[in-house]
This record gives sequence, structure tokens and C-alpha cells, in this order.
Amino acid sequence: MLKCQQVEQRADALVDGTPLSTRERFSLSMHLLICRHCRRYVRQLRALAAHLRHRAAPTAHDHQVQAVLDRVDHSRQVTDHKRHPG
Ligand SMILES: [Zn+2]
Repeated sequence: MLKCQQVEQRADALVDGTPLSTRERFSLSMHLLICRHCRRYVRQLRALAAHLRHRAAPTAHDHQVQAVLDRVDHSRQVTDHKRHPG
């Protein structure tokens, strides 16, 4: 039977979707069945991973990003023009 510490070490792989051997996956499942502490740990890790994935996902649409880039580019040209008149 795995110890809690071993489960925590493998929890990352479990959450990431890293392939584990059938035996490892089985051992983890067995431990999670009987250990409330590790169940909660894995659940929190999953929630955290989902949260991070959500944050990493682009929130702006491509055309919005392009609009901002155009504006930045435009203001830079204006500044250059002021700095070097003529
Ligand atoms: Zn445990």
C-alpha cells in the first residue's frame, strides 16, 4: 500500500494526465479510496490545475488583440514623428 507522501508525489502526474502504469494507477486509486486526506489533496490539485489552465487561456479575441497592437503601433509612429519633425 502506498503512503500518503508517495501519493502526493504522484498526484501531479495524475492531474496532468501524465501516463502512469496500470499498477501505479491502481495503487493510487486504492489509496484514494481509503484515504480522505489524499482525496482532498488530489481534488484541490485538480481545481488548481483547472484554474491555472483557465487563466492561461487567452481571454481576448484575436481582433481585439490586433486592435490594441494597431493602436500601440500608431502611437509609436506619432511619437517618432514628433521627435523627428520633417
Ligand atoms: Zn493518503
